[in-house]
Amino acid sequence: MNTPIKSEAFSIMTQATAGLENPAIDEWKAQGGKTIGYFCSMLPEELFLAGGLLPFRMRATGSEGTDGGDSYFTNNNCTFVRHCFSVALDGGYDFLDGVVVINSCDQIRRLYDNWLHKDISPFVHMVALPRQSGPDQVEWYTGEFHRLRKSIEEHFKVEITDKGLREAIAVMNETRRLQREVYELRKRERPPITGAETMAIMVAGTAMPKVRYNELLRELLTELETRELETTYRARIMVTGGILDDPTWMEAVEEVGGLVVTDGTCFGGRLMHCDVDEDIVDPMEALSQYYLADRPSCPRMIDTQVKRKNYTVDLAREFNCDGIIGEKMMFCDMWQVEQFMMTMDLKEEEIPFLKLEREYITSGTGQLKTRVQAFIETMGK
Ligand code: SF4
Repeated sequence: MNTPIKSEAFSIMTQATAGLENPAIDEWKAQGGKTIGYFCSMLPEELFLAGGLLPFRMRATGSEGTDGGDSYFTNNNCTFVRHCFSVALDGGYDFLDGVVVINSCDQIRRLYDNWLHKDISPFVHMVALPRQSGPDQVEWYTGEFHRLRKSIEEHFKVEITDKGLREAIAVMNETRRLQREVYELRKRERPPITGAETMAIMVAGTAMPKVRYNELLRELLTELETRELETTYRARIMVTGGILDDPTWMEAVEEVGGLVVTDGTCFGGRLMHCDVDEDIVDPMEALSQYYLADRPSCPRMIDTQVKRKNYTVDLAREFNCDGIIGEKMMFCDMWQVEQFMMTMDLKEEEIPFLKLEREYITSGTGQLKTRVQAFIETMGK
């Protein structure tokens, strides 16, 4: 059993990940601050920060069921969407002053329609995401960001300046740099941190003020420098896939001997893989270039499958992984197709690959552990 991380920084982060509202958000609101929820990592947090808002990445942690949502969605909609709408109907997002949605998939689009229909939030804005990421689409997406900027300025009576955007970009790039430092430590033969702990750190970063979060990351890094995990693991694993914000899922993998040393998920590695280019003069263009084209994409983008394959293979090699686990939400068509492609690509690369389907809320991990255990054994570990 590993000795828990001692620093107070980590316990603050774990608290922020374990639920929706957290003390950092309460403190922010008590000082008159406004919060804004956003669905999808392709939305520009910097724009919210420059508007003086606290961005909160939407998730349904702690949801106890989809009863409410199931009256508006069919049971072959993914449970992420159904849990989110159930939480919304129960008032679980009342701490938010608005929500920004993006048409990342048809199910989220339906969520947006129902969100408006039930008048869940005082402010709701939809950003239209292109399907490709060439120069024309980047230019187009910049237009979408300008529309969002205007909409936030009008509703929240704030002014978002280019100076404010550059400052927000600098803060967020610092966050990404510090998060990369945490990931770099996992390249060690005996990493000082587990995949579950790393996920708590990454999810916390989407639910608290960034400047405070960066302070906590620096504090945490000093402890991690000298920490070593006591537990011996049988295999080094990379996890790839879509929305995964629950450390208990990673814990289940690690309890049967697979140490998760890196990931390409949208609450994890894809958030900090590279920085917004601060040399691009127009900060709005820089944000669009970053969020649409520079950072590793998801299968929503139809022109970057080969880039995604290379990113996945390079990462697995860089972190000396023995195998890759591909997780996807049940009824998620996009990741269904992606996993089909990945199976062929990783076979060619001779990298062992395990596909796992899951519900949004982790429960009954017995089957998950059995599958991972068998996977580790097939790798001769
Ligand atoms: S998991 Fe798939 S289906 Fe569900 S919201 Fe995400 S992309 Fe859409």
